[in-house]
Amino acid sequence: MEENPDESETSITISNSHLLEEVKKKCRLSARRSTKDCEKSSFRKSFRIDYRLEESVTKSQKGKDGRYINPWPTWKYPSLADVLKWMILEKDNSKIPRCKEELDKELPLVCPYFVENPEQAGMKKGGLRVTWLGHATVLVEMDEITFLTDPIFSMRASLSQFVGPKRFRNPPCTIGQLPKIDAVIISHTHYDHLDYNTVLSLNERFGGDLRWFVPMGLLEWMQNCGCENVIELDWWEENCIPEHDDITFVFTPSQHWCKRTPIDDNKVLWGSWSVLGPWNRFFFAGDTGYCSVFEEIGKRFGPFDLAAIPIGAYEPRYVDFSKFIRKRTFFYVNLFLRILFEYYLPVFGGITCRSYTDLRS
Ligand SMILES: [Zn+2]
Repeated sequence: MEENPDESETSITISNSHLLEEVKKKCRLSARRSTKDCEKSSFRKSFRIDYRLEESVTKSQKGKDGRYINPWPTWKYPSLADVLKWMILEKDNSKIPRCKEELDKELPLVCPYFVENPEQAGMKKGGLRVTWLGHATVLVEMDEITFLTDPIFSMRASLSQFVGPKRFRNPPCTIGQLPKIDAVIISHTHYDHLDYNTVLSLNERFGGDLRWFVPMGLLEWMQNCGCENVIELDWWEENCIPEHDDITFVFTPSQHWCKRTPIDDNKVLWGSWSVLGPWNRFFFAGDTGYCSVFEEIGKRFGPFDLAAIPIGAYEPRYVDFSKFIRKRTFFYVNLFLRILFEYYLPVFGGITCRSYTDLRS
Protein backbone atom coordinates (compact mmCIF):
# COMPACT_ATOMS: atom_id res chain seq x y z
CA MET A 1 0.00 0.00 0.00
CA GLU A 2 1.26 3.44 -0.94
CA GLU A 3 2.03 5.58 2.04
CA ASN A 4 0.28 8.90 2.37
CA PRO A 5 3.16 11.40 2.63
CA ASP A 6 1.10 13.74 4.83
CA GLU A 7 0.21 10.94 7.23
CA SER A 8 3.82 9.76 7.27
CA GLU A 9 5.05 13.27 8.03
CA THR A 10 2.48 13.63 10.80
CA SER A 11 3.51 10.37 12.32
CA ILE A 12 7.18 11.38 12.14
CA THR A 13 6.35 14.72 13.75
CA ILE A 14 4.38 12.96 16.50
CA SER A 15 7.13 10.45 16.96
CA ASN A 16 9.76 13.21 16.98
CA SER A 17 7.88 15.32 19.46
CA HIS A 18 7.37 12.24 21.59
CA LEU A 19 11.08 11.48 21.32
CA LEU A 20 11.92 15.09 22.11
CA GLU A 21 9.75 14.96 25.19
CA GLU A 22 11.49 11.73 26.26
CA VAL A 23 14.92 13.30 25.75
CA LYS A 24 13.87 16.41 27.67
CA LYS A 25 12.53 14.22 30.45
CA LYS A 26 15.77 12.27 30.59
CA CYS A 27 17.78 15.51 30.60
CA ARG A 28 15.67 16.89 33.42
CA LEU A 29 16.15 13.67 35.38
CA SER A 30 19.86 13.54 34.70
CA ALA A 31 20.24 17.24 35.64
CA ARG A 32 18.38 16.58 38.85
CA ARG A 33 20.55 13.52 39.48
CA SER A 34 23.82 15.30 38.79
CA THR A 35 22.74 18.22 41.00
CA LYS A 36 22.00 15.69 43.70
CA ASP A 37 25.39 14.04 43.11
CA CYS A 38 27.06 17.41 43.09
CA GLU A 39 25.38 18.39 46.30
CA LYS A 40 26.43 15.10 47.75
CA SER A 41 30.00 15.40 46.60
CA SER A 42 30.35 19.02 47.69
CA PHE A 43 28.76 18.07 51.01
CA ARG A 44 31.19 15.17 51.27
CA LYS A 45 34.18 17.48 51.34
CA SER A 46 32.90 19.00 54.56
CA PHE A 47 33.16 15.62 56.30
CA ARG A 48 36.84 16.24 56.75
CA ILE A 49 36.14 18.83 59.45
CA ASP A 50 36.06 17.67 63.04
CA TYR A 51 32.45 17.85 64.18
CA ARG A 52 33.52 17.52 67.77
CA LEU A 53 34.78 21.10 67.60
CA GLU A 54 31.27 22.38 66.89
CA GLU A 55 29.20 23.73 69.74
CA SER A 56 25.96 22.36 68.30
CA VAL A 57 26.85 18.66 68.34
CA THR A 58 26.46 16.40 71.34
CA LYS A 59 29.92 15.21 72.25
CA SER A 60 30.61 12.04 74.19
CA GLN A 61 30.79 12.62 77.93
CA LYS A 62 32.22 10.74 80.88
CA GLY A 63 31.04 10.81 84.48
CA LYS A 64 33.27 11.36 87.52
CA ASP A 65 34.10 7.65 87.55
CA GLY A 66 35.56 7.92 84.04
CA ARG A 67 32.73 5.97 82.41
CA TYR A 68 30.66 7.19 79.50
CA ILE A 69 27.20 8.62 80.14
CA ASN A 70 24.10 9.40 78.07
CA PRO A 71 23.91 13.20 77.95
CA TRP A 72 20.14 13.38 77.27
CA PRO A 73 17.23 13.79 79.72
CA THR A 74 15.39 11.04 77.79
CA TRP A 75 17.76 8.44 79.28
CA LYS A 76 17.05 6.74 82.61
CA TYR A 77 18.82 3.68 84.02
CA PRO A 78 16.30 1.08 85.23
CA SER A 79 16.43 0.42 88.96
CA LEU A 80 17.52 -2.98 90.26
CA ALA A 81 14.05 -3.41 91.78
CA ASP A 82 12.43 -2.90 88.36
CA VAL A 83 14.79 -5.38 86.69
CA LEU A 84 14.08 -7.99 89.38
CA LYS A 85 10.32 -7.36 89.07
CA TRP A 86 10.60 -7.89 85.35
CA MET A 87 12.63 -11.09 85.67
CA ILE A 88 10.50 -12.68 88.36
CA LEU A 89 6.94 -11.45 87.86
CA GLU A 90 6.46 -10.60 84.21
CA LYS A 91 5.02 -13.21 81.92
CA ASP A 92 6.55 -13.82 78.50
CA ASN A 93 4.51 -11.91 75.92
CA SER A 94 6.94 -12.47 73.08
CA LYS A 95 4.68 -15.14 71.52
CA ILE A 96 7.67 -16.80 69.89
CA PRO A 97 6.26 -19.96 68.28
CA ARG A 98 7.46 -23.12 70.00
CA CYS A 99 7.26 -25.48 67.05
CA LYS A 100 9.36 -25.35 63.90
CA GLU A 101 6.37 -25.31 61.51
CA GLU A 102 4.96 -22.18 63.11
CA LEU A 103 8.38 -20.55 63.26
CA ASP A 104 8.86 -21.29 59.57
CA LYS A 105 5.60 -19.51 58.90
CA GLU A 106 6.23 -16.50 61.17
CA LEU A 107 9.93 -16.03 60.54
CA PRO A 108 11.03 -18.23 57.63
CA LEU A 109 14.72 -18.96 57.29
CA VAL A 110 15.93 -18.27 53.77
CA CYS A 111 19.48 -19.03 52.69
CA PRO A 112 20.79 -15.76 51.21
CA TYR A 113 22.13 -15.64 47.69
CA PHE A 114 25.14 -13.39 47.19
CA VAL A 115 26.01 -12.19 43.71
CA GLU A 116 29.59 -13.15 42.83
CA ASN A 117 29.97 -10.79 39.87
CA PRO A 118 27.60 -7.86 40.35
CA GLU A 119 28.42 -6.27 37.00
CA GLN A 120 27.78 -9.48 35.09
CA ALA A 121 24.46 -9.75 36.85
CA GLY A 122 23.55 -6.28 35.59
CA MET A 123 23.93 -4.57 38.94
CA LYS A 124 24.87 -0.93 38.80
CA LYS A 125 28.08 0.55 40.15
CA GLY A 126 26.36 2.79 42.67
CA GLY A 127 23.84 0.22 43.86
CA LEU A 128 22.62 -0.46 47.37
CA ARG A 129 21.60 -3.95 48.46
CA VAL A 130 21.08 -5.21 52.01
CA THR A 131 20.61 -8.73 53.35
CA TRP A 132 19.30 -9.18 56.88
CA LEU A 133 21.17 -12.07 58.51
CA GLY A 134 19.21 -12.11 61.78
CA HIS A 135 19.14 -9.87 64.84
CA ALA A 136 21.21 -6.72 64.14
CA THR A 137 23.43 -8.37 61.55
CA VAL A 138 22.97 -6.83 58.13
CA LEU A 139 25.19 -7.38 55.10
CA VAL A 140 25.34 -4.14 53.15
CA GLU A 141 26.56 -3.98 49.57
CA MET A 142 26.93 -0.31 48.80
CA ASP A 143 28.93 1.79 46.34
CA GLU A 144 31.33 -1.08 45.54
CA ILE A 145 32.07 -2.17 49.10
CA THR A 146 30.54 -4.82 51.33
CA PHE A 147 30.27 -4.48 55.08
CA LEU A 148 28.56 -6.13 58.04
CA THR A 149 26.78 -4.53 60.97
CA ASP A 150 27.14 -6.03 64.49
CA PRO A 151 27.74 -9.59 63.22
CA ILE A 152 26.62 -12.55 65.33
CA PHE A 153 26.71 -16.09 63.94
CA SER A 154 26.81 -17.92 67.29
CA MET A 155 23.85 -19.79 68.73
CA ARG A 156 23.87 -17.84 71.98
CA ALA A 157 24.40 -14.15 72.75
CA SER A 158 26.43 -14.84 75.82
CA LEU A 159 29.84 -15.26 77.43
CA SER A 160 29.36 -19.01 77.09
CA GLN A 161 27.74 -21.13 74.38
CA PHE A 162 26.19 -23.32 77.12
CA VAL A 163 24.09 -20.69 78.88
CA GLY A 164 22.43 -17.38 78.03
CA PRO A 165 19.97 -16.05 75.44
CA LYS A 166 19.64 -18.53 72.60
CA ARG A 167 18.69 -17.92 68.99
CA PHE A 168 15.28 -19.19 68.04
CA ARG A 169 16.36 -19.08 64.39
CA ASN A 170 19.75 -20.28 63.18
CA PRO A 171 21.87 -17.81 61.24
CA PRO A 172 20.74 -18.03 57.60
CA CYS A 173 24.30 -18.75 56.40
CA THR A 174 27.77 -19.46 57.72
CA ILE A 175 30.75 -17.11 57.78
CA GLY A 176 32.32 -19.33 55.11
CA GLN A 177 29.37 -18.65 52.78
CA LEU A 178 29.67 -14.86 53.00
CA PRO A 179 31.10 -12.92 50.07
CA LYS A 180 34.30 -10.93 50.57
CA ILE A 181 33.71 -8.44 53.40
CA ASP A 182 35.61 -5.13 53.39
CA ALA A 183 34.55 -3.81 56.77
CA VAL A 184 32.59 -4.50 59.94
CA ILE A 185 30.90 -1.82 62.04
CA ILE A 186 30.28 -2.42 65.75
CA SER A 187 27.74 -0.30 67.63
CA HIS A 188 28.36 -1.41 71.23
CA THR A 189 29.60 -4.29 73.38
CA HIS A 190 26.43 -6.14 74.44
CA TYR A 191 26.74 -9.84 73.66
CA ASP A 192 24.05 -9.78 70.99
CA HIS A 193 25.98 -7.10 69.09
CA LEU A 194 29.61 -8.04 69.72
CA ASP A 195 30.14 -11.78 69.58
CA TYR A 196 33.58 -13.14 70.46
CA ASN A 197 33.41 -16.30 68.33
CA THR A 198 32.11 -14.38 65.33
CA VAL A 199 34.95 -11.85 65.62
CA LEU A 200 37.48 -14.72 65.76
CA SER A 201 35.95 -16.48 62.74
CA LEU A 202 35.72 -13.34 60.61
CA ASN A 203 39.30 -12.48 61.52
CA GLU A 204 40.40 -16.01 60.67
CA ARG A 205 38.76 -15.84 57.26
CA PHE A 206 39.60 -12.26 56.20
CA GLY A 207 42.57 -11.34 58.44
CA GLY A 208 44.11 -7.90 58.06
CA ASP A 209 42.15 -7.19 54.85
CA LEU A 210 39.05 -6.69 56.97
CA ARG A 211 38.72 -3.26 58.59
CA TRP A 212 36.89 -3.10 61.93
CA PHE A 213 35.23 0.19 62.86
CA VAL A 214 34.62 0.15 66.61
CA PRO A 215 33.57 2.55 69.41
CA MET A 216 36.12 4.30 71.61
CA GLY A 217 37.46 1.98 74.29
CA LEU A 218 37.21 -1.27 72.30
CA LEU A 219 40.56 -1.28 70.48
CA GLU A 220 42.40 -3.38 73.06
CA TRP A 221 39.64 -6.02 73.20
CA MET A 222 39.71 -6.29 69.40
CA GLN A 223 43.50 -6.57 69.35
CA ASN A 224 43.29 -9.32 71.98
CA CYS A 225 41.05 -11.18 69.51
CA GLY A 226 43.90 -10.95 66.99
CA CYS A 227 42.36 -8.23 64.80
CA GLU A 228 45.02 -5.96 63.35
CA ASN A 229 43.03 -3.61 61.16
CA VAL A 230 40.94 -1.80 63.79
CA ILE A 231 39.80 1.83 63.78
CA GLU A 232 38.48 3.09 67.11
CA LEU A 233 36.34 6.23 66.95
CA ASP A 234 34.71 8.78 69.23
CA TRP A 235 31.29 10.27 68.38
CA TRP A 236 31.46 12.35 65.18
CA GLU A 237 34.88 11.02 64.23
CA GLU A 238 35.23 9.44 60.81
CA ASN A 239 37.45 7.12 58.85
CA CYS A 240 37.40 5.01 55.69
CA ILE A 241 38.68 1.84 54.05
CA PRO A 242 42.08 2.65 52.47
CA GLU A 243 41.19 1.54 48.91
CA HIS A 244 37.76 3.20 49.12
CA ASP A 245 38.39 6.62 50.58
CA ASP A 246 35.29 8.04 48.87
CA ILE A 247 33.15 6.21 51.43
CA THR A 248 33.16 7.75 54.89
CA PHE A 249 32.29 5.86 58.07
CA VAL A 250 31.19 8.30 60.79
CA PHE A 251 30.61 7.07 64.34
CA THR A 252 27.49 8.96 65.36
CA PRO A 253 25.81 9.01 68.80
CA SER A 254 22.94 6.88 70.08
CA GLN A 255 21.17 6.54 73.43
CA HIS A 256 22.21 3.27 75.00
CA TRP A 257 24.94 1.77 77.18
CA CYS A 258 27.66 -0.93 77.21
CA LYS A 259 28.25 -3.95 79.40
CA ARG A 260 29.87 -7.38 79.10
CA THR A 261 30.95 -8.14 82.66
CA PRO A 262 29.69 -7.14 86.14
CA ILE A 263 32.37 -4.44 86.39
CA ASP A 264 32.81 -2.96 82.91
CA ASP A 265 29.65 -0.83 82.60
CA ASN A 266 30.12 1.99 80.11
CA LYS A 267 33.89 1.75 79.92
CA VAL A 268 33.39 1.50 76.16
CA LEU A 269 31.37 4.04 74.20
CA TRP A 270 28.24 3.09 72.17
CA GLY A 271 26.79 4.67 69.07
CA SER A 272 25.28 4.50 65.61
CA TRP A 273 27.03 4.56 62.22
CA SER A 274 26.50 6.87 59.26
CA VAL A 275 28.10 5.44 56.14
CA LEU A 276 28.35 8.06 53.42
CA GLY A 277 29.23 7.05 49.90
CA PRO A 278 29.35 8.89 46.58
CA TRP A 279 26.02 7.37 45.53
CA ASN A 280 24.34 6.16 48.69
CA ARG A 281 24.06 6.88 52.38
CA PHE A 282 23.33 4.18 54.94
CA PHE A 283 22.50 4.60 58.63
CA PHE A 284 22.84 1.87 61.26
CA ALA A 285 21.20 2.79 64.55
CA GLY A 286 22.62 -0.09 66.64
CA ASP A 287 20.58 -0.26 69.87
CA THR A 288 18.90 2.99 70.76
CA GLY A 289 15.84 4.81 71.98
CA TYR A 290 14.73 8.00 70.40
CA CYS A 291 16.53 11.13 71.57
CA SER A 292 17.27 14.57 70.18
CA VAL A 293 20.64 13.59 68.71
CA PHE A 294 19.01 12.01 65.65
CA GLU A 295 18.05 15.47 64.46
CA GLU A 296 21.72 16.44 64.65
CA ILE A 297 22.69 13.38 62.62
CA GLY A 298 19.96 13.99 60.05
CA LYS A 299 20.90 17.64 59.73
CA ARG A 300 24.53 16.85 59.00
CA PHE A 301 24.40 13.64 57.03
CA GLY A 302 20.80 13.08 55.92
CA PRO A 303 18.82 12.28 53.98
CA PHE A 304 19.87 8.64 54.08
CA ASP A 305 18.93 6.22 51.32
CA LEU A 306 18.44 3.38 53.79
CA ALA A 307 18.51 2.99 57.57
CA ALA A 308 18.59 -0.16 59.70
CA ILE A 309 16.53 0.66 62.80
CA PRO A 310 15.91 -1.47 65.93
CA ILE A 311 12.33 -2.41 66.66
CA GLY A 312 10.56 -3.88 69.68
CA ALA A 313 11.93 -4.45 73.21
CA TYR A 314 9.72 -1.73 74.67
CA GLU A 315 7.93 -3.82 77.26
CA PRO A 316 7.45 -3.84 80.14
CA ARG A 317 7.31 -0.06 80.20
CA TYR A 318 8.65 0.36 83.73
CA VAL A 319 11.89 -1.35 82.69
CA ASP A 320 12.23 -0.27 79.08
CA PHE A 321 15.86 -0.94 79.78
CA SER A 322 16.89 -1.16 76.22
CA LYS A 323 15.49 2.32 75.56
CA PHE A 324 14.42 1.12 72.16
CA ILE A 325 11.65 2.57 70.12
CA ARG A 326 8.55 2.46 72.28
CA LYS A 327 5.14 1.81 70.90
CA ARG A 328 3.81 5.17 71.99
CA THR A 329 6.70 7.03 70.42
CA PHE A 330 6.67 4.94 67.28
CA PHE A 331 4.69 7.52 65.33
CA TYR A 332 7.09 10.28 66.21
CA VAL A 333 9.94 8.07 65.18
CA ASN A 334 8.16 7.29 61.96
CA LEU A 335 7.82 10.97 61.33
CA PHE A 336 11.49 11.48 61.91
CA LEU A 337 12.27 8.57 59.64
CA ARG A 338 10.27 10.17 56.89
CA ILE A 339 12.33 13.28 57.16
CA LEU A 340 15.64 11.51 57.26
CA PHE A 341 15.32 8.25 55.41
CA GLU A 342 13.96 7.15 52.11
CA TYR A 343 13.60 3.55 53.27
CA TYR A 344 14.20 1.74 56.49
CA LEU A 345 14.90 -1.84 57.40
CA PRO A 346 13.51 -2.92 60.77
CA VAL A 347 16.07 -5.22 62.40
CA PHE A 348 16.19 -7.46 65.51
CA GLY A 349 14.66 -10.82 66.18
CA GLY A 350 16.23 -14.24 65.88
CA ILE A 351 17.65 -14.31 69.39
CA THR A 352 15.51 -15.15 72.42
CA CYS A 353 13.51 -12.23 73.71
CA ARG A 354 15.43 -9.85 75.88
CA SER A 355 12.28 -7.91 76.55
CA TYR A 356 8.83 -9.31 76.65
CA THR A 357 7.62 -7.66 73.50
CA ASP A 358 5.36 -9.46 71.07
CA LEU A 359 7.71 -10.71 68.36
CA ARG A 360 5.17 -9.98 65.64
CA SER A 361 4.53 -6.38 66.72
ZN1 LIG B 1 22.39 -3.30 73.58
